[in-house]
Amino acid sequence: DAAAAAAVPPPPPMLPHFDYQPKPYTGLRADDILQKRKAFLGPSLFYYYQKPINIVEGKMQYLFDEDGKRYLDAFAGIVTVSCGHCHPDVVNAVVEQNKLLQHTTTIYLHHAIAEFAEALASKMPGNLKVVYFVNSGTEANELATLMSRLYSGNLSMVALRNAYHGGSAGTIGLTALNTWKYPIPQGEIHHVVNPDPYRGVFGSDANAYAKELQDHIDYGTPGKVAGFIAETFQGVGGAVELAPGYLKLVYDIVRKAGGVCIADEVQSGFGRTGSHYWGFETQGVIPDIVTMAKGIGNGLPLGAVVTTPEIAQVMAQKIQFNTFGGNPVCSAGGLSVLKVLDKEKRQSHCAAVGSHLVERLRNLQQKYELIGDVRGRGLMLGVELVTDRKEKTPAKVETAVLFEKLKDLGVLVGKGGLHGNVFRIKPPMCFTKDDADFLVDALDYAISGI
Ligand code: PLP
Repeated sequence: DAAAAAAVPPPPPMLPHFDYQPKPYTGLRADDILQKRKAFLGPSLFYYYQKPINIVEGKMQYLFDEDGKRYLDAFAGIVTVSCGHCHPDVVNAVVEQNKLLQHTTTIYLHHAIAEFAEALASKMPGNLKVVYFVNSGTEANELATLMSRLYSGNLSMVALRNAYHGGSAGTIGLTALNTWKYPIPQGEIHHVVNPDPYRGVFGSDANAYAKELQDHIDYGTPGKVAGFIAETFQGVGGAVELAPGYLKLVYDIVRKAGGVCIADEVQSGFGRTGSHYWGFETQGVIPDIVTMAKGIGNGLPLGAVVTTPEIAQVMAQKIQFNTFGGNPVCSAGGLSVLKVLDKEKRQSHCAAVGSHLVERLRNLQQKYELIGDVRGRGLMLGVELVTDRKEKTPAKVETAVLFEKLKDLGVLVGKGGLHGNVFRIKPPMCFTKDDADFLVDALDYAISGI
């Protein structure tokens, strides 16, 4: 009867159909790998799940574990896999280059680095035409900081609270999340109040945040700064989109104080936000230096710094070199990424799928008090969980429980924010509307069960 039928819980949502069979896996199992990691890979590693998953294969937006179980990768590795796991064009570019020449450095000539630099420069606005290839986002931000200090002749860097720019001896100073910080000297860094529309003390009032930055310069520096760095969409900090209008105001202030403006596009570039190719374009500004990594290589170890010829001039005083930056294999792979994203019109795809996903998430927010905020653009989204909407109390425990449940249902999302209470949804840019529906259905199912 009706009462009995109502008592039967609904079945869990099913992953969308995907026409691909993973290869049989016969390698080391999760427990053996874990043992070796504990023995040989240092104590500081953290695992995403209570029982870490042994991922053995990836195909576009999906991952497969050692048992052939399929997962929807709604975090794109770590926002690295822009085109899709093992996208055939990228695989082909890398394999073909590997057969010809795996390594040469910039002390020789190679066509791939030149073609890649030209293609990347063509994606930049204004006079951002000089490219330096490095191996990671951290290294890109190290180089950007060096350039700022050399070019301006000043020392003080300004960064946002809640920022993540890397964990090296230099960039750890720019990063402003205590979960990542070691107590080492951090240099001349000023962390200003974060223009976070949801949690920030001034709400969406860009003028108030900009005034606070001006105060830092007036009271905490000699009146001159080397540079200002910000992610337009904070990633590790919990998918925070900066208050509209903020960057325009602070770029003016920073330039008046002799500094250069750096946009960290490690997560937000390459059309992921849907509306624009670069995150900073959503704020109508053109930076002096742009740093990028992650999605630039679809997972290959690759980063870049792009700046103006004028700023690049300061790097001519000494040798600027690193052994692997712009190596042929990564350059060939990176060039193919740019081509795939254009050919497959991934920016407009992110806009369309992203707006559908946001709409569905906002509907879910109406159903559950637990969902305090749904934010972002394109496929660069955050869902923040709170136990009290008014106080915005971080729902740490619930987030951790749901995170595991989502994994069991076959969805991998990212986790972020200082309190680990934000789901970060940044899938490969080939993520479909069906995938979006599945993700929301899985979240609905998981929340309804706690
Ligand atoms: N900048 C941002 C915005 C990042 O999200 C990250 C990494 O998460 C970095 C810089 C550092 O990049 P990498 O881990 O490649 O060194």
